[in-house]
Amino acid sequence: MANPVVPSSGVLTPLGLDAVRLDPGFWGDRRTLDQDVIIGHCLEWMDKLGWIGNFRSEPRRGREFADSEVYKLLEAMAWTGDRRFDELAATVVAAQEPDGYLNTRWSGDRYRDFEWGHELYCAGHLIQAGVARWRTAGEHPLTDAVRLAADQVCRRFMEGHEVCGHPEIEMALVELYRLTGAERYLEMARRFVERRGRPALADIELGRAYFQDDVPVRRAAAFGGHAVRAMYLACGAVDVAVETRDAELLAAIEAQWEHTVARRTHLTGGMGSRHTGESFGEDFELPPDRAYAETCAGIGSVMLAHRLLLATGRSRYADQAERTLYNLVAASPALDGRSFFYANPLHVRTPGRVAEDVSPRAESASRAPWFQVSCCPTNLARTFASLPAYVATATPGGIQIHHPTACEISHDGLTVRVETLYPWSGSVAVRVLEAPADPRHVSLRLPPWAAGAPHPGDTVSRGPEDLTPVRRGSALVFGERVWAPGEVVAAELPMEARWVRPDPRVDAVRGCVAVERGPLVYCAESPRDEVRLAEVVVDLSRPPAERTGDELRSGAAGDAPAHDGPPHDGVVRVEVRASRRPEGDNGRPYAEAGDTPREEELTLRLVPYHRWGNHGPATMRVWLPAG
Ligand SMILES: [Zn+2]
Repeated sequence: MANPVVPSSGVLTPLGLDAVRLDPGFWGDRRTLDQDVIIGHCLEWMDKLGWIGNFRSEPRRGREFADSEVYKLLEAMAWTGDRRFDELAATVVAAQEPDGYLNTRWSGDRYRDFEWGHELYCAGHLIQAGVARWRTAGEHPLTDAVRLAADQVCRRFMEGHEVCGHPEIEMALVELYRLTGAERYLEMARRFVERRGRPALADIELGRAYFQDDVPVRRAAAFGGHAVRAMYLACGAVDVAVETRDAELLAAIEAQWEHTVARRTHLTGGMGSRHTGESFGEDFELPPDRAYAETCAGIGSVMLAHRLLLATGRSRYADQAERTLYNLVAASPALDGRSFFYANPLHVRTPGRVAEDVSPRAESASRAPWFQVSCCPTNLARTFASLPAYVATATPGGIQIHHPTACEISHDGLTVRVETLYPWSGSVAVRVLEAPADPRHVSLRLPPWAAGAPHPGDTVSRGPEDLTPVRRGSALVFGERVWAPGEVVAAELPMEARWVRPDPRVDAVRGCVAVERGPLVYCAESPRDEVRLAEVVVDLSRPPAERTGDELRSGAAGDAPAHDGPPHDGVVRVEVRASRRPEGDNGRPYAEAGDTPREEELTLRLVPYHRWGNHGPATMRVWLPAG
């Protein structure tokens, strides 16, 4: 199974890259962009900066975890069958020591710094790259190297109390166990998960909570500390729980996920409120301007939600994965695939500068081509490369489409083509191309915003009456029936733009609203702050109105120039009525309370959040004051 996650049990069976092929469309275009641009971009930068040369014993360059970026790129190449894989893999394999140890930073001085060394973190990414290669194209010198490396880790760490300051190897070892059946990998992963929080690491300036070592995994109430670390650890814990049938551990992660999504997650799906420690904040501490919401934390959140979906079948996990994919993961890369957001705030007050070189920090007002800590671009590369694996799942009775996107799905004799312009359009048609002789169902997840509307009577159904779907939980289910090639079923999801308000406990955005349409979060973007977004107040008395792209080419106030994104991105813009409420400058940013007169009514044009920042420096805000 060409899939990054293949649990041995669970409610849903994942369908991998051998079962799902993306067609041109929102996600298919991004995977193509990955193959054509992003992977090569990452390769060029790492070559230029010497991170690949590190494996050739050239003077060591880059941060202590730079090896992991090369491994994530190898993983991306494996998922896409990139012809440059062999050469890069050979460079990596040549650097392995005879006992299996492989790390260009700590060779000769290994395992001295568990808090910051990232050695096991890097090993985890190496293992995932090998697993990707193994599952897509069979064994390879890299997969031999991966087994050697994993065995070295098991020999060194099976006894003792050590863990890596950055979780990652846990899920990698479980996946290697799933692939090889070698129980030591699962047992090693289980021990790494259980050792945390006893505690296993030194107390550091940021506190042990930074690396989830303040409380045992199964006793935590919510995700906390460094958001990427928290997501990766939770992924590993779910994997261990599923393989060891540890229902208590799985339930603990589910409860932590619920708490975190309910109280510690931005509208975009972004996780991590604090720049200090790149960490989660307290409950409802979700400031839009100071949101950190690292791209890798979003990717980790999608990885976790996918694992929980497979284990439990609850569509709630796919709902959150969708929110995060469209509004965080898709937002990171520029439309041309050559620069990236690291942090993803929901409010930018000052237009950024166009970065053309390595950014020394997680710049949030503009995308950068590369970073000194460059975890996000390669993480995107491997995630886009493996996107087909997130689209659909199977059960013995049929297939479940969790993320409608143009694609072809083939499983156990049933082949269907999903035809849709989602998320621009809510029409989703499923055309049967090939059908087995026994009955099957095809189900389509209904996101929460669609849950009220499309009951069976509202859906379009062509052909025989038994093609009309039934509502089962939060899915539309077509069948179960014996299908014939050529039959089409279709659903129409309601795509009207809608206002969204925050829980009042999210103090930072109290009194504000945001706009969503389908799965997309929208934002106001103002090139060079031409419409001073700090002064805008929106008028809730009229609903947000849709505008398609072309009629807005003139670049009127608040509008970005016509898009130049992927060809199948029929971007839909939204406009809302607003006015400016400028404050006079009285020497301090406070005044006697009372009504301020409104001035200058205007139409505020909103763009999907994932597209912002593609047309030069701009200010941006998702949450808009309402009055
Ligand atoms: Zn990152």
